[in-house]
Amino acid sequence: MGSSPLDAWIVNDDEITSLLAAEWDRQTTTVQLIASENFASPSVLAAAGSILTNKYAEGYPGRRYYGGNYVVDEIEDLARRRLTAIFGADHANVQPHSGANANVAVYEALLDPGDTILAMRLDQGGHLTHGSPASITSKYWKFVSYGVTPRSDDPAAPGEQIDFDNVRELALAHRPKLIVAGATAYARRIDPAPFREIADEVGAMLMFDSAHVAGLIAGGAHPNPVPYADVVTFTTHKTLRGPRGGAIICREEHAKKIDSAVFPGQQGGPLEHVIAAKAVAFKEASQPSFSVYTEQIVANAKAFARALANEGFRLVSGGTENHMVLLDLRDFDAELTGKVAQEVLDRAGITTNRNTIPDDPRSPFVTSGLRVGTSAETTAGMKENEFEAIASLMSRALRKRDDEDALVEVRNDIAALCANFNPYANFTK
Ligand SMILES: *Cc1c(COP(=O)(O)O)cnc(C)c1O
Repeated sequence: MGSSPLDAWIVNDDEITSLLAAEWDRQTTTVQLIASENFASPSVLAAAGSILTNKYAEGYPGRRYYGGNYVVDEIEDLARRRLTAIFGADHANVQPHSGANANVAVYEALLDPGDTILAMRLDQGGHLTHGSPASITSKYWKFVSYGVTPRSDDPAAPGEQIDFDNVRELALAHRPKLIVAGATAYARRIDPAPFREIADEVGAMLMFDSAHVAGLIAGGAHPNPVPYADVVTFTTHKTLRGPRGGAIICREEHAKKIDSAVFPGQQGGPLEHVIAAKAVAFKEASQPSFSVYTEQIVANAKAFARALANEGFRLVSGGTENHMVLLDLRDFDAELTGKVAQEVLDRAGITTNRNTIPDDPRSPFVTSGLRVGTSAETTAGMKENEFEAIASLMSRALRKRDDEDALVEVRNDIAALCANFNPYANFTK
């Protein structure tokens, strides 16, 4: 298959080399619809696989606890400068190993144990680190959770949108020290302005967790929360299309506390090879071609949503304004769970994840929903037509889920589609 970064991965380890080849085959013969995934560029992969992995650099540029950091200092500084330039932020910390680490570091920086945080509930679209009982965050801070408005089948007044009356009521009743905006399973644009208004009303700080939409913000397809939020956290590997990792940008007044909370508060030595890859991704995200990419992500998601609705799936919130579509499977087939749908689609070469939907009657392990996203295959060059074709193949596979021959047929159709969209064909090196 066309150009492939595979040659760069021949390692002196037969078992790993052959598993990498198997994973390349999986990524390029099946369709990647997990909303939090993407295909990072060959330059990002090269930086992440570089000799910088050899260096210890505890501390920050100019203030390290080890010698020999004059090159690494320049790399980390470059990453921070590129990042603050993209979002117009005062200060950046590019060391968090993941989005979850970034969020915990912010809580640690801005709050005392036991303080109250108002955030979105997990089953309504929030993230584990927004206070789920399963997350360590709920052991150290007291969470109060807002949700979305009730379901509506009126296209003129779609429901399942962030309920700002609920946010305000809870804020007034509980006086949180921090309000968290941002979600992990929410297909609508999140406007930072009403969150700021409510935060000001109750004297709270505002954190915007833009893990999913950071790339859409960088490309200009979504509003920038930086003018409104005290702190913005994100992952670098979702729509932003960089290496796996996290980052924090904040107002100058919080800079020192944020830096101390990341190191030494939470982490040891930073991953400078990943920080170099983040710098590469930030440069890519500031190019005009990245805006073209993010516009296409959103256009593809809208076309995908329409096509899925035509196949009989109910769209949670009635549509999409970002890179993801959240499906309620019950109208399509009352018996079909998210868990079974994910497993059937896997056999048909369509990679997705089950997801709870607002007021889901099923458990988080089973669920009634499915989350799909367009950012990865948009990188591979797919457009509206291809996503319409995928919607029809998804529907076929799920309708004929007990017919092994039908699933093999869908898998072959998907492989034929993917053969025309090598994810590494569109990157210039
Ligand atoms: C993905 C995500 C995170 C966590 O990112 P990891 O890198 O997986 O730790 C945090 N918040 C939100 C809203 C997310 O979607």
